[in-house]
Amino acid sequence: MGDSTNSDSTSYIGKADRDEVLLAGYPGAAVIVSQDSDVIRANPKGAGLETLISHGAVPEIKELVAKAIGVGTVAAGSVALQSSKGEISLELTVVPVDTERLLVLARDQTMDKNLRSALVESRQRYKDLVEVSSDFSWETSSDSSFMFVSTKGAIGYQPAELIDRPAAEFVVDPESYTPLPFCSKRPLEDVELWMKRKDGETACMMLSCVPLFVEQDGTETWSGTRGVCRDVTAERQSEAALARARHREQILGYIVSMIRDELEPENMLTAAATAVTRALEVTGCRIHRQSTPGTYIVAAEFGNPGADETLEEKIHDLQANGEVVSFEAQGWHVLTAATQYRKTINGAISIWRSTDTEPWDDDFQILLSDVANQLGIANEQIANHERIVALSRTDSMTGLLNRRAFFEEELPRRVARLKRNRETAALFYVDMDNFKLVNDVRGHQAGDDAIMMLRDMLMEFTRPGDVIARLGGDEFAMWLDGIPAEATPARAEALKKASTKLAEFSGSEDKPLGLSVGVAVYDPAEQESFQDLVSRADAAMYGVKKAGKGGFLIAPPPKSNAST
Ligand code: GH3
Ligand code: MG
Repeated sequence: MGDSTNSDSTSYIGKADRDEVLLAGYPGAAVIVSQDSDVIRANPKGAGLETLISHGAVPEIKELVAKAIGVGTVAAGSVALQSSKGEISLELTVVPVDTERLLVLARDQTMDKNLRSALVESRQRYKDLVEVSSDFSWETSSDSSFMFVSTKGAIGYQPAELIDRPAAEFVVDPESYTPLPFCSKRPLEDVELWMKRKDGETACMMLSCVPLFVEQDGTETWSGTRGVCRDVTAERQSEAALARARHREQILGYIVSMIRDELEPENMLTAAATAVTRALEVTGCRIHRQSTPGTYIVAAEFGNPGADETLEEKIHDLQANGEVVSFEAQGWHVLTAATQYRKTINGAISIWRSTDTEPWDDDFQILLSDVANQLGIANEQIANHERIVALSRTDSMTGLLNRRAFFEEELPRRVARLKRNRETAALFYVDMDNFKLVNDVRGHQAGDDAIMMLRDMLMEFTRPGDVIARLGGDEFAMWLDGIPAEATPARAEALKKASTKLAEFSGSEDKPLGLSVGVAVYDPAEQESFQDLVSRADAAMYGVKKAGKGGFLIAPPPKSNAST
């Protein structure tokens, strides 16, 4: 700088004034440099730039100066400078002032640049957020067709397959929406709508949108809608599955409580059939039990009959694997499942409804299988109960009815039936003669054998429908159902004859094992009480004993009570 001052101080002062004017006229940082890029002068804002140039921190300045000198006109370029506040971006314009000096004007572009990158970043941020928060974003035009769909496409379609096609084409029941949300003229939030996927399935979408308007002749005209959709099909499906499971649980709970509340085992299954028919809203229900393997008996039924013959065949094919079998027959949809206990089939449950209705869905299959599981236990309980009842009714040695079952259950029931049918019957009271001696002489086992022989004899002597009971010790009773009064002596005679076989067990020849039999004929017309009938037979038997044993006596008819 010293050199130029000395060589031409006048012109320099004049130039200095001009430079001052040039520099003052610029609102930003400005400096005057020599052709060697040395700063000659700077305006107040240019002080920083002067320092940077003089420290060689702006190497680009030399190039720009050279360029400006070379072309004899303006040269411009950007430079990036590091500062304590981050990167500063300057746009430098170099203007030749005369042959020696150049004016350098700086414009701080940091703000512009930052703004631009902030804008780009913000756009990207929105794009990213939209993409992660929705399954697709879209825009429709005023003709209600898609004009934009986000790059991933939607409901199985590529964007190109959706563009220019009416949104309504992809919506299930588009008429049910007024207006279709894809063409809404007002903002919507979380509207649920079902769409048709390319693969033919349906998808549930949660849609939110805003309408777009353009100003035309001073009025706002709707030009389309834009929005986002989130696929909530999986959520809806699991919600629906959960609701169905809850519903099934309620139904099952109801059915199980109906079974459990029934104390009488024989009514349990009727309660179950009733509850199943009502709760499942079917036409009818049938519950089978299997007392011996392979033999099903109808244990309970409710509702109207359906497809009976085919059902009776089909249940024999049921397996003990919990499988629910569905078939159609004679206009019925039928669903059937085996009931089991410890992997052994003990029955079946079947339901049916008209083929005019929908076929069975999974819910029915699951429910019937659950009910079958419960009935498997119920059937087992009933079988146990029956076993206990049978035990309490029988004499363990002979397997015949015991005294209690014979007098308290069997006889009253039969007397009642005879009254209805106006048929007669005969009660035989049988007691072995000299039985004690068999035990005493031949031993207890021989006594037992004699009892078993008498049992076999009586069983041969009777027909199905007759009843034999062991009343205790060597005392038996026999009920001949429906026998006419006049046929009774012949039967008693036949028994007397057969009883001679017992003699082989006799303890001594003069006291042979034989039978004393008292017979009382029951005639419902006589209105005789059941106790009186028993007394007559008993008395007749003692009559034989008193008369020397070995034979029978027909009791005289009761003193007539019949109204004459
Ligand atoms: P009566 O001719 O007067 O009928 O006399 P009885 O010798 O047949 O003797 P009674 O009917 O009075 O007694 C029956 C006997 O049968 C008494 C009892 O010890 C015996 N007894 C009862 N139950 C059994 C049984 O299960 N097995 C055997 N071996 N003996 C029995
Ligand atoms: Mg006896």
